[in-house]
Amino acid sequence: MFRTTRLKLTAWYLLLIMLISFLFSLVIFIDVNRELIRFEHYQELRQDRIKQQYGEVQMPTETNPFDEQLVFEARNRLIASLVILNICILGGAGVAAYFLAGRTLGPIKKAVEDQSRFIGDASHELKTPLTTLRSEIEVYLRSKKKTIAESDAILKSNLEEVIRLQSLTDSLMRLTSLENSTANFEKVDLATVIEHAIRSVAAVSKGKKITIKNRSGSVTLHGNTKSLIQLFIILLDNAIKYSKNNTTITVRSKIYGGVAYIDVIDQGIGIPENEREKIFNRFYRVDKSRSSFDIPGYGIGLSIAKEIVAMHKGAVSCTSNKKGSVFTVELPV
Ligand code: ADP
Repeated sequence: MFRTTRLKLTAWYLLLIMLISFLFSLVIFIDVNRELIRFEHYQELRQDRIKQQYGEVQMPTETNPFDEQLVFEARNRLIASLVILNICILGGAGVAAYFLAGRTLGPIKKAVEDQSRFIGDASHELKTPLTTLRSEIEVYLRSKKKTIAESDAILKSNLEEVIRLQSLTDSLMRLTSLENSTANFEKVDLATVIEHAIRSVAAVSKGKKITIKNRSGSVTLHGNTKSLIQLFIILLDNAIKYSKNNTTITVRSKIYGGVAYIDVIDQGIGIPENEREKIFNRFYRVDKSRSSFDIPGYGIGLSIAKEIVAMHKGAVSCTSNKKGSVFTVELPV
């Protein structure tokens, strides 16, 4: 598809370049031709003047008679030069137009590829809970003797799958809405944002007896409050998810060279070095088997975090070892 589009775009670029080149050649031809006509006319006048002065018979030998053939040849040479020039431009412009078409289509091609990959991955993630739901319902319907306890168990399991599906679709919608958004920016106090995020995950951290220490100072920056709260909820939620019970999570901040650095430090299972770049990709999850406990998720959280940070012209990175991970958010202040 992109090959044909590239060729079509090349043809349009080429047409435009050749049109401009042709117009320039025409202007040059008209201009030079006008000069030749003026020259012809001047030569005729000169000839007439000499004839009147000396008479037809006694014309001096050093006054060359006007040669029309010379002007004719000059005109032909001009046309030939312009044709050769245009052929050269056609060749050069063809290569340049093909290259430019490739450059123009490059970002569009990448966006289309990203979108198809996203649709493919999302469908794949949706398929698992849907298949589970379907097979559970089918098995239940086929069973002859249905007890209330069995029905309750099936419904409970179905509800879990529906909740999983709902959280997945919510995350997907958040991700797409972020990509298309030009969020309203306002003055934001980072300390308030972090406090809000900590409050939102308090119930979950309490459940795992995890202490969250807030060591962040007051920093005012330009951003979107809702998105920034969401960003820290994602990082804190992950820190809780990937940590064992009775551990500590610390949030600290500092400003250096016009940039606020906010660290979310956990004492969790850590992330292998070769995975640290990939975890920000959509649907990417590090091998589940590395933790002794089953951690629910779809690998979307950090890609949302990355989008939010990009929206704020900042960055997010991760360092980690066996004692835990540090997620650092950089935001311009
Ligand atoms: P999810 O948590 O839903 O799988 P994320 O995009 O939030 O998706 O995270 C991607 C992956 O990065 C996770 O599957 C996990 O393996 C890893 N990860 C994220 N945060 C942490 C953390 N604090 N400690 C250890 N691993 C983490």
